[in-house]
Amino acid sequence: MSKFKIDKSKCVGCGACVNTCLYEAIEIGKDDKAIINKEKCKNCGKCKKICPFNAILEK
Ligand code: SF4
Ligand code: SF4
Repeated sequence: MSKFKIDKSKCVGCGACVNTCLYEAIEIGKDDKAIINKEKCKNCGKCKKICPFNAILEK
């Protein structure tokens, strides 16, 4: 279960987190915001580190 979540007010849909996730656990939704797949996420934290807009939060 993922301990990370997206702050949709900050996410610009750039896709940097999607490209960095080794587990294909993030996709860009229809609203152009990132979505974390809670089942696939391994909590490595790479997406949080790479997001240029600080839009990934640890719960
Ligand atoms: S890297 Fe950050 S701003 Fe870019 S899609 Fe992911 S959460 Fe959104
Ligand atoms: S914490 Fe790691 S496994 Fe989970 S969505 Fe981010 S990059 Fe992918």
